[in-house]
Amino acid sequence: MTLPPLREVIAHHGLTASKALGQNFLFDEQLLGRIAAIPGPLEGRAVLEVGPGPGGLTRALLRAGARVTAIEMDRRCLPALAELADAFPGQLRVIEGDALKVPHGIEGPYHIVANLPYNVGTALFTGWLSGESWPPQWSSLTLMFQQEVAQRIVATPTDPSAYGRLAVLAQWRSTAKLAMKVHRSAFTPPPKVMSAIIHVTPTEMPPGVSARMLERVTEAAFGQRRKMLRQSLKGLPGALEALEELGIDAQRRAETLSVAEFVDVARILS
Ligand code: SAM
Repeated sequence: MTLPPLREVIAHHGLTASKALGQNFLFDEQLLGRIAAIPGPLEGRAVLEVGPGPGGLTRALLRAGARVTAIEMDRRCLPALAELADAFPGQLRVIEGDALKVPHGIEGPYHIVANLPYNVGTALFTGWLSGESWPPQWSSLTLMFQQEVAQRIVATPTDPSAYGRLAVLAQWRSTAKLAMKVHRSAFTPPPKVMSAIIHVTPTEMPPGVSARMLERVTEAAFGQRRKMLRQSLKGLPGALEALEELGIDAQRRAETLSVAEFVDVARILS
């Protein structure tokens, strides 16, 4: 399928990048193809794409054979996306709206792929990983973040400055990997910082642990990350006794506890 170059699509539809909407577009079709390959084979698979913009990544997903549902809040992008829908009949459904609010209506398992502004990306990410019900409906997340945020998602206690709530949330019942670094010069306009794509797949949920309780424990522990656990977890009923039961030294700080240790503490309190 020959499509016009993305730069032409942007010029034709007057899609100047909006700062307010966090728009930094990708035009390199080879790079977009590599990103679309991260979730694995997509032939006939359902994909939720958030923030397709002019449709660079969308094209790559469609070429890989995916059935794409795309949510975009910038109305100016809709004509360009409608052209893509015509070029790939029956493969692309576009929903206009804010992905934090509109339902996508996809039935059955689906992959999620997105290149989003930082704040929206993080809010959606925590939403997709929270909740008591597991496994989730999605079978993988492939998400572009600022490199610093991507590092916080995949961090372990060996990287104490990056390790925190986001890492525990992403790793306690999922595998989170840094799939690809993307240089700032790949975007138009280039953002100030480097980006990276993380790939998350759900694993089995450890038994006997409430997601809400784990959040409460990490919130308290990392809320005062410089303090010893005996201080930061003081306000959480039963937490200090749980540490003792598990043989975890209360003089340790949050950033030294492994994800498994956080899960053990939350299990006793759940
Ligand atoms: N996917 C395109 C690409 O890779 O070139 C565009 C990426 S651009 C960084 C982010 C896109 O997300 C923009 O098109 C923007 O309008 C859209 N967007 C921002 N906030 C959104 C939201 N809350 N819901 C849906 N789309 C949003």
